[in-house]
Amino acid sequence: MTLTSFEALPLAAPLHRVLRELEYHEPTPIQSQAIPLLLQGRDLLGCAQTGTGKTAGFALPILHALNERPLQIRPRCCRTLVLAPTRELAGQVGKSFTTYGKHIRFSQTLVYGGVGQVPQVNAMRRGVDVLVATPGRLLDLIDQRHIDLSQVEFFVLDEVDRMLDMGFLRDVKRIVSLLPSKRQSLFFSATLAPNIVELAQTILREPAHVSIAPETTTAERIDQQVCFLERDHKRPLLEQLLRAQAAATVGKLTIVFSRTKHGANKLAKSLCAAGFPADAIHGNKSQAQREKALERFKKGLTPVLVATDVAARGVDVKDVGLVVNYDLPNEPEAYVHRIGRTARAGAEGRAVSFCSDDELEYLREIEKVIKMSVPRWDDHSWHLEALAERHLRIKSGGGKAPSSNGGRRQGGGGGGGRNGGGRDYSNASGRNNRRGPASVR
Ligand code: AMP
Repeated sequence: MTLTSFEALPLAAPLHRVLRELEYHEPTPIQSQAIPLLLQGRDLLGCAQTGTGKTAGFALPILHALNERPLQIRPRCCRTLVLAPTRELAGQVGKSFTTYGKHIRFSQTLVYGGVGQVPQVNAMRRGVDVLVATPGRLLDLIDQRHIDLSQVEFFVLDEVDRMLDMGFLRDVKRIVSLLPSKRQSLFFSATLAPNIVELAQTILREPAHVSIAPETTTAERIDQQVCFLERDHKRPLLEQLLRAQAAATVGKLTIVFSRTKHGANKLAKSLCAAGFPADAIHGNKSQAQREKALERFKKGLTPVLVATDVAARGVDVKDVGLVVNYDLPNEPEAYVHRIGRTARAGAEGRAVSFCSDDELEYLREIEKVIKMSVPRWDDHSWHLEALAERHLRIKSGGGKAPSSNGGRRQGGGGGGGRNGGGRDYSNASGRNNRRGPASVR
């Protein structure tokens, strides 16, 4: 059953009220499919990523149940356990519960590593309705008997593919073994590789399946472009993009992706020195530092955020108009997650990827996964035509062409460019070249 209006969903009045306030007029596809099933008490295997509205897809029915059946919670217990792979994502999910549960009486807390445990232990002392946790710290606190999972009614595993990539399989299995057998379990993953399905089978009971083409709706609103250039020219091209971005009226914020933590730090520093207020977030920064950086970013005080993949996951900031892949990711799926940081919640967005000589192989893998060619943006001063041609040859099975220094066109304009020129990239849209929606399957 799918529904086109929230009004048709038998959710509690305070939830309908908040949806009206948030101006969510229609459920997203995952919401219209998942919410009725979850309200019936079914287990769920959901194939969907962030950006699809999946958080409300599970938070709304859980909040509905908490509201309908208030219960005394035992000390150190929780009625809902949401497991998320990173602190950022846990924070994001926690925030969503706060937003959607604004008019409902319920308690929640977050448990994640990298910060002192005392406030988390104190918050759990009387028990909570909703606990959002990362696996490592949760197990630490369970082992110290500060958390007890025996009252869990709703168990949500979010971003399972990421969880397994990060090596949490054993932790997840241990946590599941501590849950009561009578519970409702929800399992979300962007991909359903065999090891993920296998894990799902050990957790879910006769689950309903819901599959949403990953970030299709989002990806359709993203103008994706790739620039072929020499590594040393990434900096000047980035500055050119940032200058144009600073002049934008909406979507002023930019996330720049770097492959390494060191690279992220270096780039943020040099951008600051060049007059572009920038901050870096990555795994080596403390939680407090990351939160501060995100706050400043959201407020537009530092409109450029240089991030690594793990740190940026779950970052949900509405005004991000541009994502720059300064380095291409070596995991092709990360490309889809990265570009999904723009075009959030109905906005338009642009994703520009820099591809130098040593990254052609990554680009090929990405294009295989998204099942489309990323449209080229050649109309900038540093375009390296020889590299673009080599990419084409590799793609068409011509093997590796010899590396060439030639072919760089100086100055804007000229053949090969799809779009209008240099700085004004407002109509540099990939739409006409798009062959199909980005998809990770
Ligand atoms: P998520 O996939 O849960 O990370 O959600 C992505 C974004 O979509 C968030 O900014 C939500 O606030 C927004 N969102 C979720 N559901 C809806 C809806 N039905 N209508 C409009 N925006 C929504």
